[in-house]
Amino acid sequence: MTKPTGPIPDGFASDRDYMLLIGGRRADDLAAEAGDTPLFVYDMALVDRRVARFRAAFPGVDLHYAMKANPHPGVLRHMLAQVDGIDLASGGEMRTAIAAGGDPRRMSFAGPGKRDSELEAAIAAGVTINLESEGEAGRALLIAERRGVMPRLAVRVNPDFELKGSGMRMGGGAKPFGLDASRVPALVRRLVEAGAEWRGFHIFAGSQALSPDALIEAQRASVALAADLAEKAGAEPPLVNLGGGFGIPYVHGDQPLDIAPIGEELTQNIGNRPQALARSQFAIELGRWLVGECGVYLTRVLDRKYSQGKTFLVVDGGMHHQLAASGNFGQVIRRNYPVAIATRFGTPAEEQVSIVGCLCTPLDILADDVMMPCADVGDLVAVFLAGAYGLTASPQAFLSQHPAGEVVVNPAV
Ligand SMILES: *Cc1c(COP(=O)(O)O)cnc(C)c1O
Repeated sequence: MTKPTGPIPDGFASDRDYMLLIGGRRADDLAAEAGDTPLFVYDMALVDRRVARFRAAFPGVDLHYAMKANPHPGVLRHMLAQVDGIDLASGGEMRTAIAAGGDPRRMSFAGPGKRDSELEAAIAAGVTINLESEGEAGRALLIAERRGVMPRLAVRVNPDFELKGSGMRMGGGAKPFGLDASRVPALVRRLVEAGAEWRGFHIFAGSQALSPDALIEAQRASVALAADLAEKAGAEPPLVNLGGGFGIPYVHGDQPLDIAPIGEELTQNIGNRPQALARSQFAIELGRWLVGECGVYLTRVLDRKYSQGKTFLVVDGGMHHQLAASGNFGQVIRRNYPVAIATRFGTPAEEQVSIVGCLCTPLDILADDVMMPCADVGDLVAVFLAGAYGLTASPQAFLSQHPAGEVVVNPAV
């Protein structure tokens, strides 16, 4: 039985030779210039379109980039010029972002389990720490006191609601992330009394939502929660980070997210905001929606073989670079990502094949029972949606396989 592939994102076409173009460049030329495959290619022109769509839909709302989606320095440098803030998930990301020229005062650092050395580096640099617990708050205040500086601290709230239909729920119930809402006002008062610069709230309810209604509802609940907590704490939050959760279509049947109605609702909601948030700035933090579709993973066919009536294309890449496409990155059921033969892009599908990686495990599947043009040894396979949670979210050391390269096309800087 043939299985469908996910929808190929907008912005990809072929030239007259049926060669896939990525950011206007031929896939085979990109691979030749890199000198090797597998290769991740990131087209920044596609990211710029995303940013422009966000700006049009959310006037006056800050846009943050969650850099764990793609921390490649070239991608990051480009993002620094396009967004209002960078959301960090580790001290390592902080070092990368500062080295790329980012302003620490436009960075915030979330994540359970921050080391003292990471808190210290953030405080020294002026990065806002999104506190995940009272214990972490205590450590941060102590470090700041020892250094004699005023730390920039925000409080991450574990919301008592969830982002419905989200691929990864981060709120609603017992969670290791943030403080339960009922504990937040007391911590805010403690931070203010300790003389910290209190930066506001961070409320992240989930990821990978494709329903505008679910996102509208989560944002409405987040604004209401922020207002309630601000009132109870008796302090006005300078910034309310509403989280993100904007998803992208990965598999057959997924529909692209229309952000226009979400922006309309939020704009209206902010216009009528409660008094407790009268002077607050609002931010949305996004990863995959900004960069997911800009990336293509190119991998070369090494072998073409048959087994009991099935045709396999064996490629020089696999799950060690693109774990999510193999279906092993938190998915319950494996479904095919958008995949194509890059060197025969737009030619008719002629045969049913399975495209498998070079790892010696049955988990290493990039496309299962899909219809493709006939491909042979040397052809390039393109796995789309490789711009977010690709290389750095994959077990690169597994089987000590050949490493992947990364190139950025159409960078602004
Ligand atoms: C991972 C993460 C994001 C980004 O999620 P995407 O689904 O890539 O948009 C944003 N905020 C926080 C707190 C995260 O942990």
